[in-house]
Amino acid sequence: MKRGLLIDYYYCTGCKSCEVACAIENGIPVGQFGIKVEQVGPWEYEPDKWQLSYIPVPTEQCNLCEQRVEVGKQPSCVHNCQADAMRYGTVAELVEYMGDNTRQVLFVPETDKDAEDVVRTFGQPVKEVKRENPAVTEKETEKEGNAMGLSMESTIGDVIDAGAVSELFEKHFPGLLADPNLQNGAMLKFGTFVQFPQAAEKGITEETLSAFFTEANAL
Ligand code: SF4
Ligand code: SF4
Repeated sequence: MKRGLLIDYYYCTGCKSCEVACAIENGIPVGQFGIKVEQVGPWEYEPDKWQLSYIPVPTEQCNLCEQRVEVGKQPSCVHNCQADAMRYGTVAELVEYMGDNTRQVLFVPETDKDAEDVVRTFGQPVKEVKRENPAVTEKETEKEGNAMGLSMESTIGDVIDAGAVSELFEKHFPGLLADPNLQNGAMLKFGTFVQFPQAAEKGITEETLSAFFTEANAL
């Protein structure tokens, strides 16, 4: 499954933190970039209407921060964007997350063109939990190399209201929802996909996640 970066440049302030963070993380020399923030404008195209956008453009040197996602971290650019303008994930997740919003671009690096059809969000092997009809059946599929379940695919986002999930999350991971340092929010939902950014750093383990999902799926 191909992975990529979703860049919601509507929120990009042009601060260039992503450029710097990427260069430091990946040892990119001065004058080269793994991601480059381009400025388009300003110009006035109608009375009182101005074009001015900042658009971060990943380059051929972007490898999606494999060394970070393999250990459960967000790519450096995503982690360091104060405007929360970037998302990392599989293309399917990101397309779903895009919704109807405007001013977004989706980047898939060359390195992922032959990616195997394996769910590896944040570089973590995941346990896939699918329920075609959540009221009747539940099918669990062990994915190759399933060692940690820091990201899981589930239908709970479809069948359980956010409030109930939040309560359950608070029960299993007390205080985490209120943690302002939890990148991109405590729990992101990509329709049927639930992610736990920085799970490893926050002490979320396969065991605690499994307990959470067991109760969530029983709601
Ligand atoms: S860090 Fe975020 S806000 Fe700053 S330039 Fe990069 S994408 Fe834009
Ligand atoms: S994913 Fe990593 S390598 Fe790619 S642009 Fe972001 S920081 Fe640079």
